[in-house]
Amino acid sequence: MQDQLQEAIAPYRDRVDYLEIRLEQSESTSISFRGPQLDAVDRNFTLAGGIRACHKGGWSFVTFNGLAQLNDRIAEAVSQAHLVGKETTMLAPVEPIQDYVAVQLGCDPRGVSLEEKRRNLAKYNQLLLDFDPRIQTTMVSMSDRFGTTYFVNSLGTCIAQERLDVSGRFGAIAREEGSVPRQGFESVHSRTDYNILEGIEDRVLGAAKRAVGQLEAKSVKGGQYTVVLDPYLAGVFIHEAFGHLSEADGIYENPKMQELLALGKPLGIKQLNVVDDATMPGLPGSLKYDDEGVPAQRKYLIKDGILTQRLHNRETAGKMHEAPTGNARALNATYPPIVRMTNTGIETGEHSFQDMIKDIEEGVYAVRMLGGQTNGEMFTFAAAEGYMIRNGKLAEKVNDVTLTGNVFQTLKDIEAIGNDSIYVSGGCGKGGQMPLPVSVGGPHLRIKNVVVGGR
Ligand SMILES: [Zn+2]
Repeated sequence: MQDQLQEAIAPYRDRVDYLEIRLEQSESTSISFRGPQLDAVDRNFTLAGGIRACHKGGWSFVTFNGLAQLNDRIAEAVSQAHLVGKETTMLAPVEPIQDYVAVQLGCDPRGVSLEEKRRNLAKYNQLLLDFDPRIQTTMVSMSDRFGTTYFVNSLGTCIAQERLDVSGRFGAIAREEGSVPRQGFESVHSRTDYNILEGIEDRVLGAAKRAVGQLEAKSVKGGQYTVVLDPYLAGVFIHEAFGHLSEADGIYENPKMQELLALGKPLGIKQLNVVDDATMPGLPGSLKYDDEGVPAQRKYLIKDGILTQRLHNRETAGKMHEAPTGNARALNATYPPIVRMTNTGIETGEHSFQDMIKDIEEGVYAVRMLGGQTNGEMFTFAAAEGYMIRNGKLAEKVNDVTLTGNVFQTLKDIEAIGNDSIYVSGGCGKGGQMPLPVSVGGPHLRIKNVVVGGR
C-alpha cells in the first residue's frame, strides 16, 4: 500500500511546495441502548482518504474513496493549491521518517461476534435499569474501531500506523416525584483489548449510584468558596479552559492572544506544571506520530508556573518560528489535520487529599463533569457531583455545583496540587471534527475564591 501511494505522489513532488496523502482502512462496530430498547447496531468497513497540497502558502484538501480515484484526486489537489497560493509556504522543517507502528493486541474485537457484543452490553444495561425504581432511563453504548492509516508526503516520509479504540459509555437518569432528573455516567476505554468491556459490573453500577445519590442531595448555596476539584474535573478544566487557548492556530494571527499567551509569562505557583503528552502509553490521545508525520512529544505548556510552550502543527510552528510539537490531528483520513491536544493534564504535586481539605472551614469538593462551556478566557463548568467541606472534613452531598471564572485568574488561584493522578478518556470537538479521542487528568487541585453557582 505504501509503495502504491509513494508512486502516486512522485510525479507531483516538484509541482507544489508540499503534498501529502493519508489513506485509512478501518473496521468498526457500535451498539447502543436507550432504556430497554436496542437503539442502534452498526458495522462498518471503510477505505478512504484525503490529499493535502500547499503551494505559495495556499492549501487545498480533497478526499477520495477507494484507490481508483487516487491519481485524478491528486491532480485536483495540486491545481487547487496553485489557485489559492499567493504568498510563501512556511512549514517548520521535519526529518523524513519511514516506520510501521503496530498495535500490541490483547483480545481483538474483530474476533468477537456482534451478537456476543450485544449480549454483553444488554447485560450492563439491564443492571442499570434494575438498580433502583427511581432509574428512569439509560443510555448505554459500546464501540470498537481498528484502523490502519498510511501516510506519505513529498518529503519522503512514509508511515503506517495501526490504531485500536475500544470504549463503553454507561449513563443512567434517575428521577422522583417533584425533582429534576439527575444523571450519572461511567466510561471505559482501551487501546489494545476488547476485554476492557468484560467484568465491569461494579464500575457500570457507579453510574446508577451517582444518579440516585444526586436525588438525595440539596442544591449548593451559591457563593465564593475554596474549591477542591477531583482529577477528572481538574483535567477537564485544564483541557477546556487552558489547553484550547494553547493551540497555536488561535494565537498566530491574533495579537490579543499573543499578548495574553506570551512565552515566559508567569501563570501560577511554581509547583504548577501542565503537560500535553502524546507519549503516555495506552491513552486515547497517545500516538507515535501525528497526522503530519511529526513524532509525538511530551510538552510542558506550563513549567514551574511559567508559560513555556504551545501546541503546533508544522505551519503554525513555521509561522511563529517555533519547533513543531506533533499536535496536528485529524478525526480520520477524510478530514484535514488541525492543531489538537492529545493527553492533557497537570503533573502530580505533593499534597494528600486530607492535607488539602484539613484547613478549609467551608468549601466545596467538586467531582466529575456534567457539561460546560468556554468563551475566550471565561469558563463555566457543571460538576456531576459535589460535597460540602466543613471544618476540614467532607460533609453533606450537594448538587447543582457550577464553577465560573476567568482561566488566568483561576490558574493563579491554584493553591495546592495533589499527590495522586488519574487520566480519563474524552472526546474533543473543534472545527467540525468530533469526537477526537483525547484524555484529560492529573491530581486533585485546590483553588481559592471560586464562584460557585447553585440553583
Ligand atoms: Zn476540547
